[in-house]
Amino acid sequence: MKRKLKREFLNTVDMPLFVEIGEGPRKYIGDIIETLDLTGVYLITGKTSYELVAAKIKERINSSLAGIHFVQDGGMDEVRRLVIDLGYRDIDCVMGVGGGKVLDVAKVFASEMNVPFISVPTVASHDGIASPIASFKEAGKPISVTAKPPAAIVADLVILRHSPIRLLRSGYGDLISNTVAIKDWILSREKTGEDYNEIAASMAVLPANLMLNAAERLDLKQTDHLTMLIRGLILSGVAISIVGSSRPASGSEHKFSHALDFLGFGNATHGEQVAIGSIIMEYLHEKYYGTGNWERLKRSLEKIQAPTTAREIGVTREQVIEALMYAKKIRTKRYTILEDVNPSKDDFEVILAKTGVCLKNI
Ligand SMILES: [Zn+2]
Repeated sequence: MKRKLKREFLNTVDMPLFVEIGEGPRKYIGDIIETLDLTGVYLITGKTSYELVAAKIKERINSSLAGIHFVQDGGMDEVRRLVIDLGYRDIDCVMGVGGGKVLDVAKVFASEMNVPFISVPTVASHDGIASPIASFKEAGKPISVTAKPPAAIVADLVILRHSPIRLLRSGYGDLISNTVAIKDWILSREKTGEDYNEIAASMAVLPANLMLNAAERLDLKQTDHLTMLIRGLILSGVAISIVGSSRPASGSEHKFSHALDFLGFGNATHGEQVAIGSIIMEYLHEKYYGTGNWERLKRSLEKIQAPTTAREIGVTREQVIEALMYAKKIRTKRYTILEDVNPSKDDFEVILAKTGVCLKNI
């Protein structure tokens, strides 16, 4: 297959250049705002995040504060209401302090207002803390909205260490899923001649491999490991910004997760879903191209006590099969191992039994 010429070098890249990861940078947010010479800071947060973190931050930036909004349902409707209410106000920066829903509303609102976005995550459950992509629900169905990536990220380990361990494990799942996403991307480069960006791919896959290698002794609340996770998630977000699409961090394993969302199956987090999807898709890469090691992936998830079976995420065997068949119909232009191998229902049955994602007849 003749490769197409790369076009990315003609692009300019919007990416966070001001990144603080450490024990307590939230205390210096006032200084950061001053250094960046920002005045009208509009704060977007959630009720719990406000009580835990954002109230103190608000005190520190009081003289520059343009207003505050508490996210309710999340989603585009809420962003539209904010734009209608605040479109003519003097806002020169939006700061989001909270989890995924808060940061998604904040990043899209900042983009609509064409002002910089500062991301202050209170959880690290996926790469949305740094990526330009927001995940919303519209009419009950998941949608992705592209915004500008954050101009600055303040990741305070004190806050993140106190977030629920399940969400940190989910962040681990989202990060290691990059190893599958990059295999899909390389496969597509070979089979379809798709543009491929080595820098973005390396940024997405190297931290994921570091985490995988450390899985045997991983303690996600410990400073070094937590820092490794946050760095990895931030670099994933930057990789997405570099290519202007989620390609470096979203392949067949994310299609499986999107299918579960579309079909409304289960009760797992995004990171848990993509992690289980990764075991299944890694199996396919290993079987057909010898480029994977699904057992290593699964073992690492077991080590950190993340779910590796359908039962643990409240999904039946039939639902997993339905989701996998549905995944083959999602975004077929994004070529992955699913389009390449086109597994049948029976093939999936075998994979689920072999990987232990679903036990036979359960
Ligand atoms: Zn993801």
